[in-house]
Amino acid sequence: MYRIGKEEIDAAAKVIYSKQLFRVGGELHECENFEKEWAEKLGVKYSLLITGGGTAALTSAIAACQIGPGDEVLIPGYTWIATASSVLTCGAIPVICEIDETLTIDPEDIKRKITPQTKAIIPVHMAGHPCEMDTICQIAKEHGLYVIEDCCQNDGGTYKGKRVGTWGDIGCFSFNYYKIISSGEGGCFATNNEELFQRAACYCDCGSFFWSDIEFKFPVFVAQQFRANEIQGAIMREQLKKLDSIIADLKRVRKTLITELSDCLKFIPSKSPDEDTGVNVVIEFPDEAAGRAFCEKIGAIAMMGIDHGKHIFTNWTPLQTKTAYHVPAMNPFNFPQNQGLRANYGAEVCPKTLELLKKYAFVAINPDWTEDELKDIIAKLRAAAK
Ligand SMILES: *Cc1c(COP(=O)(O)O)cnc(C)c1O
Repeated sequence: MYRIGKEEIDAAAKVIYSKQLFRVGGELHECENFEKEWAEKLGVKYSLLITGGGTAALTSAIAACQIGPGDEVLIPGYTWIATASSVLTCGAIPVICEIDETLTIDPEDIKRKITPQTKAIIPVHMAGHPCEMDTICQIAKEHGLYVIEDCCQNDGGTYKGKRVGTWGDIGCFSFNYYKIISSGEGGCFATNNEELFQRAACYCDCGSFFWSDIEFKFPVFVAQQFRANEIQGAIMREQLKKLDSIIADLKRVRKTLITELSDCLKFIPSKSPDEDTGVNVVIEFPDEAAGRAFCEKIGAIAMMGIDHGKHIFTNWTPLQTKTAYHVPAMNPFNFPQNQGLRANYGAEVCPKTLELLKKYAFVAINPDWTEDELKDIIAKLRAAAK
């Protein structure tokens, strides 16, 4: 969340004064309007706003692809644990792929890790860095795999001029507090595929979906309840109006930092440097000690990649201990269909991912830095680089 204020207060107040907080039956139609505006922004046909966050969006998307026990899903070893947990929630097994120097899933490792059990790839547009979507979609096509995009850290970002989340079969977004636009919590999925949309939507309303006029093309199944409310819809509509200017300012600051400091710092490459959303700049050091020394000089806005906790597969406790459900009988690691699948999460699975994160320092960007603040940051980064 970068910019929130009077617009969101007024929008939320309007809903409260209307006393129509449920998304159906009122006059305001905030959720429905957000969904239309978001789908239009992305250039897709369908989207659904949900209270459950990016995690719920991912789980709904995986369920929509009818992925379950006996299936493997390829995910990167560097992503929020939610990417992995949503696969397990559906009863399938996440298989970890390396990231490359751009912090995104390595297409070469995807190719190496595909087996007859693979059903989908989840590329994650980490920290505003777009994945190599054209190559990934091509690989998926050759092998008949679904592509579910995790755009939670890149709401509204693009790759080759096309919004992330619209390259694959279905895109998942998070609007939690830490994301580019936010209503505190919440999320969304978006797709052009009507049946996938229906199945994902079905997953979001406990087998009822009583308020919608969708005529389901399949028997409705029991699932979760992630219905969004009108306050969230109203806030997100205001956030959406701010999205492009937030991204433009993030990109401007990122570009300034890179242009000013390339003589003394080595910034990591991007699959599309001008489209990198720029929530951070990431700097490569020769080793971990040099990176740490740099971060210490910078303070709170700098952090080593390897310190990103539950963003790194070796820290995903439920996967490490193979306890992925509340009762053993529902733990996918125990399912007979999943025996023989590659449920391996040791450091040896993706050594390159860990090596890169040990050498990479992240510096968080604020799109609202004034000229003077930006100058100070540049001076501080330059001094620390020595
Ligand atoms: C934040 C995040 C999620 C989960 O989003 P929530 O809204 O917290 O459920 C999933 N994947 C990535 C990469 C994220 O950063």
